[in-house]
Amino acid sequence: MKTVLTNDPLEAAEYIKRGGIVAFPTETVYGLGANVFDEQAVAKIFEAKRRPADNPLIAHISEIEQIGELATKVTKNAGKFIRSFFPGPLTIVLPKSDAVPYIATAGLETIGVRMPRFELAQCFIAACGVPVVAPSANLSGRPSPTTWQAVAEDLDGRANCILQGDPTEIGLESTVVDCTGDIPLLLRQGAVSLAQLQAIVPETRNYEPITGELPKSPGLSHRHYSPVAEVIILDHKFEISNFKSGAAYIGVNERGERFQVTRICLSAEEYASAIFEFFRECDRRGIKTIYCETVEETGIGSALMDRLRRAAEG
Ligand code: AMP
Ligand code: MG
Repeated sequence: MKTVLTNDPLEAAEYIKRGGIVAFPTETVYGLGANVFDEQAVAKIFEAKRRPADNPLIAHISEIEQIGELATKVTKNAGKFIRSFFPGPLTIVLPKSDAVPYIATAGLETIGVRMPRFELAQCFIAACGVPVVAPSANLSGRPSPTTWQAVAEDLDGRANCILQGDPTEIGLESTVVDCTGDIPLLLRQGAVSLAQLQAIVPETRNYEPITGELPKSPGLSHRHYSPVAEVIILDHKFEISNFKSGAAYIGVNERGERFQVTRICLSAEEYASAIFEFFRECDRRGIKTIYCETVEETGIGSALMDRLRRAAEG
């Protein structure tokens, strides 16, 4: 398959209308989209990404009214979050409507819905005329793409089109909150923090899977976000034990060791927006070990630490 590159959202939307799959930029990471109501098109996303079929997708909308096509009801708490955080990096999980095929939700009775605030994403989704279901536009298990070039690295020849936009602003995937019950449950950390959600609905809490029960957010148990290199997390106060030469370092504090690649970030926000591309850059350069400094677990720091831990497990 030839992958067309374009910076025209209307041209990119044509591929969705014809049942194809298109990578597009949002403020979080690049997504790989299809018409949510077209089962065959949605199946192509799983195939292109080599994504396990039990990992649900998020439906992206350009207008609040589109939630009515995707969900049977908007719960009271969901309504509050929508008013506070849409458009933005928050995905709310609602009971799915019959129109949404199970392939999109990995067999779940619920659907994740998000309205990106990135203008190019909004123009593209609006031009598609339907909600666009999209996971991150990487090969499964690889770091999520934050530039169109990173998308091309993984999906050239596997997607119909890449909508070329700027590098993403946040650089980590959206916060996911389950709003199907009385108490909102934070399923995945992102740029909208637990504290921000609790400021709107104080009962909101972290989801903890009950043993023996199916996890509410299946995708989180998959290997994720990993570069080929080994990732080692370290606190800047600690010395590196068994320092490995030819290593890379990313963090907010300088260190004494000599690394082959170093990235010092000015803030946790900058660190979060740089991390996935840094992982990819290290892989391109054949780095074997990446040292990542810990950050305080507040605001975007919680989401960043979550991704670093998963990358270190990978
Ligand atoms: P990705 O866009 O690749 O980060 O993948 C979307 C992630 O959102 C999944 O791996 C799940 O963790 C979460 N998600 C999407 N839809 C649902 C849903 N209906 N219920 C729970 N979690 C969901
Ligand atoms: Mg993903």
